[in-house]
Amino acid sequence: MSFGIPAGKFFVPGPTEVRAEVLVAMSQPMTFHRDPPMEALMARVTTTLCSVFGTARRVHVLTGSGTSAMELAIRNGTVKNVLSVIHGDFGERFARIAEACGRAVTRLKAEPGDVVPLDRIREALQRGGFDAVLVTHSETALGVLADVAAIGRIVAERGDCLLLVDAVSAAGATPVESDAWGLDAVVSASQKALALPPGLAFAAVSERLVARARTLPDRGAYLDVLKYEDFTARQQSPTTPAIPLLYALDRQMADVEKETLPGRFTRHASMAKACVEWVGRHEHLGISVMARAGLGSPAVTCIKSPIPTREVQARMRKEGYELGGGQAEFIANTFRVGHMGDHTVGGMGAMLDVLGSVLQSR
Ligand SMILES: *Cc1c(COP(=O)(O)O)cnc(C)c1O
Repeated sequence: MSFGIPAGKFFVPGPTEVRAEVLVAMSQPMTFHRDPPMEALMARVTTTLCSVFGTARRVHVLTGSGTSAMELAIRNGTVKNVLSVIHGDFGERFARIAEACGRAVTRLKAEPGDVVPLDRIREALQRGGFDAVLVTHSETALGVLADVAAIGRIVAERGDCLLLVDAVSAAGATPVESDAWGLDAVVSASQKALALPPGLAFAAVSERLVARARTLPDRGAYLDVLKYEDFTARQQSPTTPAIPLLYALDRQMADVEKETLPGRFTRHASMAKACVEWVGRHEHLGISVMARAGLGSPAVTCIKSPIPTREVQARMRKEGYELGGGQAEFIANTFRVGHMGDHTVGGMGAMLDVLGSVLQSR
């Protein structure tokens, strides 16, 4: 069975390309999830995950997509009124999850391709009444990176306000310093910059968030952070985990450690830079980068295109490449290059060569 996309040619911003070695790791026999081998696996992967999230606390591993960890952050880290900093469609989703959990949301929206100015965030917080701020670190819809460290400093000025961060496409692609930046929840998922198959979510939470969770009556069952605190401390998971995905995670984290995180961040930054420069050299084709200069995400570049998105994707598919479409109001006239995970500057360059000729043939 095959979907016709050759290995090395999947440039969608999640799920991203998964290397054969990682896929093979999933085909090992089952083990019981409360036995020593699985505890040893959990002990191994949590060390590397702690550095990915920049925290000394253990990172929770959930079976679920990234959205499950976003909901965990909301249910356990917010009380009533949240301020949502929105840089694109994923920011909007975070806000809607909060609303679905019964929270009142105030939105601060950026112009497309831009970020919300820090002064606007500070002003909104001064008006007061917010118990948490939500922000997307790398906004995958428009390819914009937020300055989470700076937002962390602003939120820290307001005593009891927590900062919850969607780092789904950021974690593993760019530094995320949960402890140093004062972040109370940082969530991610397996299928983005960590280049695993979809199905696992990750949540790094602060002591402050755990203390708040103890006071909240509606933590639910599956996403109750207190259960994760209890089980993760014993290298276990509250419910049966997606065992094959944990095998893949174990294999991938060993490789991430070999490459080193700084090496991984540099590779992502180089891919983003090369992609943006390539678009700059092809302005005559009518294309341009959505993100304002200097605000681009290291994991994904969103490109405005005079040729309809579906047409670009169809032409590239004929050449064996899969690109991401646009999102929300940009669905028809932008496409996205996911340069995350285990992709390389060389592999992406080969794809862009093909893209150049495909866009030229009008
Ligand atoms: C992919 C993505 C999500 C959604 O994750 P799911 O795994 O589909 O639930 C959320 N936020 C961002 C920034 C993403 O890139």
